[in-house]
Amino acid sequence: MKAPHAEQLALLDVQEHDTKLAQLQHRLNSLTQTQELADLRERLARLRKEVIAAETIVSDLEREQLKADADVDLVRERSRKDRELLDSGSITDPKQLQSLESEIQSLAARQTALEDVELEVMERVEGAKAAVEQLTSDVTAAESREQELAAEVAGIESDIDAQKTSIAAEREQAAAAVSAELVALYDKVRADHAGVGAARLYRGRCEGCRLELPPTEVAALKAAAEDEVLRCEECRRVLVRTSESGL
Ligand SMILES: [Zn+2]
Repeated sequence: MKAPHAEQLALLDVQEHDTKLAQLQHRLNSLTQTQELADLRERLARLRKEVIAAETIVSDLEREQLKADADVDLVRERSRKDRELLDSGSITDPKQLQSLESEIQSLAARQTALEDVELEVMERVEGAKAAVEQLTSDVTAAESREQELAAEVAGIESDIDAQKTSIAAEREQAAAAVSAELVALYDKVRADHAGVGAARLYRGRCEGCRLELPPTEVAALKAAAEDEVLRCEECRRVLVRTSESGL
């Protein structure tokens, strides 16, 4: 392929812009904040589930507490009625009296045992509520960090996007100075070679693959016409001669 040397130089300019665009895209793809945000959102989802689970425990325990309260009330009421009966003096039979007194005693023991249960459930309710409170405050803190990070990421993205837009416009301008045929060749090579389709020949070395060309190859490049589009024998990239090529 042939192309005026000025076009070949313009192709290097296009390459420079494409390299910058690729670097910006890479920066965009590898933002640490993006990863941090993804991790944080995962943690938030987990925390929200934990809040729901902890709230379920609280409501289960509260139901248990109501039952314990009712159990105590029942025994207390029974005991109150027995005492009333005892205090009324209406029971005179000694056997009946003894039986009533013994029931009052056993109800007192039962009440103490039930009150212990009641207290224990109450403590568990408190513990479970504290867990909900802690988790809820963790969620709030994570949500505020999420907002902060999301805003930071959006800012960086819009900054990089603006740079990309301006470099892409410059790239189009540079590409306009190159024939469609040469651009097509460049694009094809670039797609197969990690984004680098055209490289400078610098002091006998291809800047695409970084290999020093053998002297016979250098001699052939030197002999080639100025408008000959050269390719690196090693990496097949378009090789552009400049005053610093060492030819
Ligand atoms: Zn090469």
